Amino acid sequence: MPAVRNHAPGQDLRDPASSAPLRHDWRREEVLALLALPFTELLFRAAGVHRQHFDPTEVQVSTLLSVKTGGCPEDCGYCPQAARYHTGVDATKLMATEDVLEKARQAKAAGASRFCMGAAWRSPKDRDIPKVAAMIREVKALGLETCATLGMLSGHQADALKAAGLDYYNHNLDTAPEFYGEVIHTREFQDRLDTLSHVRDAGMKTCCGGIVGMGESREQRAGLLQALATLPAHPDSVPINRLVQVEGTPLAGTAELDPFEFVRTIAVARILMPRSMVRLSAGRESMSDELQALCFAAGANSIFYGEKLLTTGNPDTERDLALFARLGLRPMAVAVDAAGHDGDARHGGATVHAAITVLPAHAA
Ligand code: SF4
Repeated sequence: MPAVRNHAPGQDLRDPASSAPLRHDWRREEVLALLALPFTELLFRAAGVHRQHFDPTEVQVSTLLSVKTGGCPEDCGYCPQAARYHTGVDATKLMATEDVLEKARQAKAAGASRFCMGAAWRSPKDRDIPKVAAMIREVKALGLETCATLGMLSGHQADALKAAGLDYYNHNLDTAPEFYGEVIHTREFQDRLDTLSHVRDAGMKTCCGGIVGMGESREQRAGLLQALATLPAHPDSVPINRLVQVEGTPLAGTAELDPFEFVRTIAVARILMPRSMVRLSAGRESMSDELQALCFAAGANSIFYGEKLLTTGNPDTERDLALFARLGLRPMAVAVDAAGHDGDARHGGATVHAAITVLPAHAA
């Protein structure tokens, strides 16, 4: 266990003695055994892994914006943007490029280095790709890193987005393979894997996680974590969402997940995917400050930040800043190389400012 160190602002607290190879062969019983550890022992182990790869006092902050909301033909049981559920979410068309650019300029002025565009689609139509590609090119031309979440992609769509300058693509596994059919009926688990494969093959970074508290068992939560950790490459970011129950969706009324079980999920994600950003995503608004603090102690090092997370609420920025101050946390800086390209701060380089990511609905 690395020693706890006092540090000055800006001092890097990563443990330099950390270079265990990443594993992609986690077995279900190993994941279950981790989930079943005594709570404080699990947090102790996760905290050790966390500081081997990151400064544990730094949290990446991201902001989420939908560029095309609602009216989705899919039937994801948790989602208020599915057209078939009556949730009060109005469908919008894809925003005009100039409007997206205005948001991107605002984000940059606020210190953003990354801008993610998301749309509530099952998958983009080929005719949508040039419009999204134009947004990506123009956002990139502002000097921002680009990110998108648009639903399922074909190989040639992924290639076209990459060619336009897309850096990151978000596509969640949602839940365990064996529980998938309980939540979503309009696509298969394999469809998710196929899109992630196209994204990787195109040379883009992946953001991929899931949702817990949908009525799945611990074994099924282990199944989600195992599926994420046995992907050919660990996702660069792993958003762990806690179900936000929205009236009108099939999962409204689901028994709430024990908060400690949520923290356990975060801790095991940190242990299985030690170099990934583990992100507290949807559901954070309803978490107490104490629960969020436990999640940070368990290895979460990324949050969504802003007034709205897609169509559900998110803690306002003042509360987040106050919580950071109370916990002695600070926004993670983004590294910039000599050519001005930003990358993950953990890979070194000069620091500039916090990343702000703007995503859509199924991204959370
Ligand atoms: S999660 Fe995404 S794909 Fe599923 S219904 Fe919502 S917007 Fe559509």
